[in-house]
Amino acid sequence: MPIYEFICQDCQRKISFLVRSLSTTFTAKCSYCGSANLSRTISSFAYHKSLKTVWEGSGNPEHPGEDYYKDPRNIGRWVEKKFQDMGQELPPQIKEEIQAAREGVMPEPLKDFQSASPTAAYD
Ligand SMILES: [Zn+2]
Repeated sequence: MPIYEFICQDCQRKISFLVRSLSTTFTAKCSYCGSANLSRTISSFAYHKSLKTVWEGSGNPEHPGEDYYKDPRNIGRWVEKKFQDMGQELPPQIKEEIQAAREGVMPEPLKDFQSASPTAAYD
């Protein structure tokens, strides 16, 4: 379950939300002053925990071994990591392409995407 953390721009306090579903949109408000003027941060705890779970058993992407890129589970991991690093959700279209690639279908746009910056591609 992802934990979203926000910084209230009005009172500078940190607020954490547990979000049950990624597809659920919710209105975040500061629980101290009620301001909706929040900026999102990523929970470092949830971030590391989820990466560990997802990457378990398929190699460490920071130190890829010889077989790292032969493992289809590692396709698209660079993209996932980039988005994680920036605290952004992976766009559903990219998620689908990565999933397809892991099943043996390598789409051309994904190859291009991997050499581009995620912000440049999706701003
Ligand atoms: Zn506040």
